[in-house]
Amino acid sequence: MSVAKVIVDVPAQQTNKPFDYRIPASLINVIKPGMRVIVPFGPRKVQGFVVDIVTESQFPKLREIIELMDIEPILNEELLELADWLTDETLCYKISAFQVMLPPALKAKYEKKLQLKDRKKFPSLSKSIQPYFYEQDTIDWEDAANSGELSQFQKEVANGALEVRYIVKDRIKKKHVKMVAPALPAEGLLQRKEELSKRSNKQISVINYFLSHPKPIERQKILSTLSISSSVIKGLVEKGILYETMEEVYRDPYQDRTFERTSPLKLTDEQSIAIKPILQSINEQRHEVFLLYGVTGSGKTEVYLQTIQKVLQGGKEGIVLVPEISLTPQMVNRFKSRFGDEVAVLHSGLSVGEKYDEWRKIQRKEVRVAVGARSAIFAPFENLGIIIIDEEHETSYKQEDNPRYHARDVAIERAKNYSCPVILGSATPSLETFARAKKGVYHLLTLSKRMNEHNLPSVDIVDMREELREGNRSMFSRLLYNKIEDRLAKKEQTVLFLNKRGYSSFVMCRDCGYVVDCPNCDISLTYHRFNQQMKCHYCGFETIVPAVCPECSSEHIRYFGTGTQKVEEELGKIFPQARVIRMDIDTTSRKGSHEKLLNAFQEGKADILLGTQMIAKGLDFPNITLVGVLSADTMLHLPDFRSSEKTFQLLTQVSGRAGRHELPGEVVIQTYTPEHYSIILAGEQDFDQFYQKEMMIRKISGYPPFYYLALVTVSHEELMKVIDVTEKITKLLSSRLSNQAQILGPVASSIPRINNKYRYQCIVKYKKEPNLTATLKKILDYHQQESYSTGLQISIDKNPYIMM
Ligand code: ADP
Ligand code: ZN
Ligand code: ZN
Repeated sequence: MSVAKVIVDVPAQQTNKPFDYRIPASLINVIKPGMRVIVPFGPRKVQGFVVDIVTESQFPKLREIIELMDIEPILNEELLELADWLTDETLCYKISAFQVMLPPALKAKYEKKLQLKDRKKFPSLSKSIQPYFYEQDTIDWEDAANSGELSQFQKEVANGALEVRYIVKDRIKKKHVKMVAPALPAEGLLQRKEELSKRSNKQISVINYFLSHPKPIERQKILSTLSISSSVIKGLVEKGILYETMEEVYRDPYQDRTFERTSPLKLTDEQSIAIKPILQSINEQRHEVFLLYGVTGSGKTEVYLQTIQKVLQGGKEGIVLVPEISLTPQMVNRFKSRFGDEVAVLHSGLSVGEKYDEWRKIQRKEVRVAVGARSAIFAPFENLGIIIIDEEHETSYKQEDNPRYHARDVAIERAKNYSCPVILGSATPSLETFARAKKGVYHLLTLSKRMNEHNLPSVDIVDMREELREGNRSMFSRLLYNKIEDRLAKKEQTVLFLNKRGYSSFVMCRDCGYVVDCPNCDISLTYHRFNQQMKCHYCGFETIVPAVCPECSSEHIRYFGTGTQKVEEELGKIFPQARVIRMDIDTTSRKGSHEKLLNAFQEGKADILLGTQMIAKGLDFPNITLVGVLSADTMLHLPDFRSSEKTFQLLTQVSGRAGRHELPGEVVIQTYTPEHYSIILAGEQDFDQFYQKEMMIRKISGYPPFYYLALVTVSHEELMKVIDVTEKITKLLSSRLSNQAQILGPVASSIPRINNKYRYQCIVKYKKEPNLTATLKKILDYHQQESYSTGLQISIDKNPYIMM
């Protein structure tokens, strides 16, 4: 017997293991691990992944696989194994692990249908729903749901006359174009040409074309090249002179661009010293993790490029991860112009189809380099020679949904499997990484100088409290105002940076202090100027700004704080001559708009670029000589032990945008807490001191990298339920873990309610707890049933980055 072990697409604890299915005779030797199949599961048909093929099963009666969905495995052996690791590591379901590795086009989508089980039962159906089944046996669930007769349908399902069926929809849409090619060799074409009547001059011109270009061509192209109508081709096809085929083509978002080829630069001494141990580890096929620590502009990317070149020469493949927001065309260009068609690019701006096509190129081994954001770490290569993570400190490498993985951990795990090195690059490494590098767990490589010896920009820190005291109520300090004015006069460019879109633009009553909160979540609504609406960034609730305060009826209710829109308005007032480009989520949500705005700025179509953190990265324009940070502290007060680290990283990065070329750069940082070490040290671009200081604080307060964390969050509509469950979990953890582990909680989460669900949490701080994973799994198992019936949610994050 031939039995397939299948993980079914039913994310639940009970189904988080392989189920046995009989392989039908027609599919024996065809089905392989890593392919998707459709299998019966209870009353449904679901998609599943074959993980193994065996010859017998301990179960006597097996159901049979219904259908095979793939011709070749879509997950290779290594990725199947990686899924086991990911499942253990993040406590996710196996099916979620598979799905996160695949492009969205390959995720199953189900259509829900209602089916009449047997025509004989038709007369017994209640009259009101009979018309739905006059001519067909199945109807869409939606039609039933919208019929106003849903209860009748339900009754018939309960009676067994109707059946609910899930039908898997195959969403992959390969793009095909019609091609035309000669059906005969040259002599044949010549002969048939002679036979054509002289009046068929159009057909003759087509034959002549193929005599000089004997290759298939897109039908559309030959039509336009020869200015002929499709009937001409049709005639030739009917005569058997040409034939038509469909060919799969890729949707290539970069196809319209040409990339000038670049060749490797001669490395500086520092770069040569840094790259040497990496090349050595490639030669010896040895796994090792390198931290390439170097300020912005110190030539890290060139080191990546030459490392990849070496890997390609050895016949292997490479993955480069770049944070989503720095996956700018500039960044992509650098890889495409060095490696041309060898590069696939994966990022969230692509359509589902484009993503699938880029993924296919990797799977079909048509490219050997993948450049992409977080999920590109799962690129289906089979002979990896290097994995590079640029800006390794970026928190976007951590996925905040299941599976809650960190791309850095996945990179290291994959690189171990392939015995290849990993390069982590950053000007401001995460504390965890730097600590490991200092301990020698990672190999530290340093680039200390900026290319071309350009000096780092000079930084001024302005105390905004002082400004206020001296009567300046504007959001621009006098220093920043003067400098912007000066740049406008000199026709140089300024970048103004605001932390987080609309972070502090809430609506408040000036008389009583009432703040407009979301009715579903315990958090204030964010004001959006352009449509006069307030919006909740957690649940999407939207409403208009009240004309009077609901508390005290005062009319002095207005928005506070500084969103990008408000700054733009203010700029318009104080520098009416300045041309401003604003970049935030509102202005860049449409596809391609990000790039358009940046291009416009690069081409000098604006004097000031105003934006949120999305402008902190990747900008490298020669004419930027001033960077202003409007309020450095907005991030400092988030309830997150990494808030100082994030502030330092961001300020350092933003400052790095100025003066990267010939013109010297200046930076102005405005703050209400100028004495904070992360602001002072970012001003001095002194990572080493920041590291010392922050490590001390982490040590004292027991945070990573000295301790590991695990965060358990419980949410439910009833507050008492949430507290009760969190308390039980806390007790269970205390009883199972050693007394070295600290268990903090239960406490309300810092956003205590989201979408009408209360949220409580407990945090485990620990150094070494062999029982932890098993205990956390037990907690999930135990509450599984309840979560089905009551909507209780328990989420566990073994490496939390967002503590809210
Ligand atoms: P980073 O990635 O550290 O920000 P880059 O690799 O982008 O630094 O280098 C900064 C600039 O210096 C780029 O314009 C790059 O082309 C240039 N550069 C890098 N290495 C060299 C080199 N060895 N010789 C000349 N120019 C270089
Ligand atoms: Zn009021
Ligand atoms: Zn809300």
